[in-house]
Amino acid sequence: MSIIGKMQDWPLTVNKVIEHAKINYPRQRVITRTVEGPIVEKTYSEIYDRSKQVSNALKGDGIKKEDRVATLAWNGCRHMETWFGAMGIGAVLHTINPRLHPDQIAWIANDAEDKVLFVDLTFLPLIEAVKDKFETVERFVIYCDPENMPATELKNAIAYELYIDGQSQECVWGDFDETTPCGLCYTSGTTGNPKGVLYSHRSNVLHTLMTGMTDALGISIHDRVLPIVPMFHANAWGLTFACPAIGAEMVMPGPAMDGASIYEMLTKYKVTISAAVPTVWLMLLQHLEQNDLQLPDLTRVVIGGSAVPERILRTFQDKYGVEVGHAWGMTETSPLGTIGSLTPEQKALDYDSQITAKLKQGRPPFGVEMKIVDDEGKDLPRDGETSGHLLVRGMAVVDTYYKGAGGDGGSVLDEDGWFDTGDVANLDDQGFMQITDRSKDVIKSGGEWISSIDIENFAVGHDKVANAAAIGIYHPKWDERPLLIVQLHEGQTATKEEILKQLEGKIAKWWTPDDVAFVDAIPLGATGKINKLALREQFKDYKLPTY
Ligand code: ADP
Repeated sequence: MSIIGKMQDWPLTVNKVIEHAKINYPRQRVITRTVEGPIVEKTYSEIYDRSKQVSNALKGDGIKKEDRVATLAWNGCRHMETWFGAMGIGAVLHTINPRLHPDQIAWIANDAEDKVLFVDLTFLPLIEAVKDKFETVERFVIYCDPENMPATELKNAIAYELYIDGQSQECVWGDFDETTPCGLCYTSGTTGNPKGVLYSHRSNVLHTLMTGMTDALGISIHDRVLPIVPMFHANAWGLTFACPAIGAEMVMPGPAMDGASIYEMLTKYKVTISAAVPTVWLMLLQHLEQNDLQLPDLTRVVIGGSAVPERILRTFQDKYGVEVGHAWGMTETSPLGTIGSLTPEQKALDYDSQITAKLKQGRPPFGVEMKIVDDEGKDLPRDGETSGHLLVRGMAVVDTYYKGAGGDGGSVLDEDGWFDTGDVANLDDQGFMQITDRSKDVIKSGGEWISSIDIENFAVGHDKVANAAAIGIYHPKWDERPLLIVQLHEGQTATKEEILKQLEGKIAKWWTPDDVAFVDAIPLGATGKINKLALREQFKDYKLPTY
């Protein structure tokens, strides 16, 4: 006879996160700078109640399980209510990145077959310009109250506060399987059309537990968290779920992402933890420096999305006493893949060696597996030096893109279940991973790989350099040689020699760029990263002086 006894089957659905917050942290707040201007405060209890109203309003519009509901919005509590309201009834919340081209936004909404689109006032002109291109959206909900509702010809447009006004706060949530899809986020499409990653309730809940581990994002109920990373950029790196799950208060920046506005939110609300891509931190650090300001409350920043330059890391830690957690991830990994919390062995090293370790992308939390392989798919050693294609698998990693994109209609994994990240990295024997490049950005010189990331990071270490990008340019002997493209800080001038001197001794001699080109502005993509595709196009006919 088999053994009798059983644990509960407690479906891992994300509505449980906000339910938990409602019961246990009812008075903890989400503080939002709104597009209209005022800063508003809502408790988790109020957010829960208003999310239920969103659910009922959506149900009134005929939205049911697996229907797609889209948002085009900044970080804010109304946006959060829409997430929990839609996900709670089993609809799929699709975050659209407003920094994409309007035609691409319409393309994505059509591909997703979005039925309702919630939009911030900021983006109204943007979608009105392409309003006839939306083929499936039946209703546009504008994030504002009726007094601030502008005249618009968008289909069935209604002010958000009117949309949910009078709706009941009773609604059954989570009455479905944990593998039901709940979120949809498209990759930025640097190669071809964007591909949708369809998160399930289960993967989002597991990702929430993962981010909540001490050595991951390091958040406690005593923290106040400012997610600068947008909710449309891989779920604000999971913070929209992690904070209510932990009980931490949130401070939402709304549309104001400049250095002065971020500083204001950080200090006024005594924020202890924040997360953003390096370009945002550069703006904040510049603002602090120019105005001789300090960050008395901030204890930790999570930086990811692209590699953290040493200058940012050291300035945060040495000048402002703020610990940096360098993270790596992708839309496809929900997104947390690694974070650079030091191991005891690394902590015992001298400070400079700790910095060297922290400049790496970090180690995977439980639930993420990684390995590196060569061009033939053969496993490579974890020696901290050998570079190879980085493969991942885990409990919140993509299997099949939405509608089977990029995988002939099916899974994009190899036969052992590994997902190829498109990144090139090395791994060491305590799990630390270092990205050396993206496969398509690697510069191939004489059959050997040159890391564009290393060159860029050392270049931005120069005082005069605001941003830098290294790309491969045709060379008759070596196939490709690096060209360093540099954007100087305003009002600065510099010579090629001066910039290259900065790299001396830091990179292998043969990695030294063959030339330096100065530009007014390095183009950034929709997630704030350097747009190498645009740069390669801009410099496609560039002739290096070395042949
Ligand atoms: P996209 O592919 O649209 O840029 P993601 O935001 O999902 O979308 O970006 C994932 C990619 O960003 C990774 O594959 C990697 O190339 C890069 N990336 C993310 N974090 C880091 C980091 N800390 N260091 C270097 N590269 C990073």
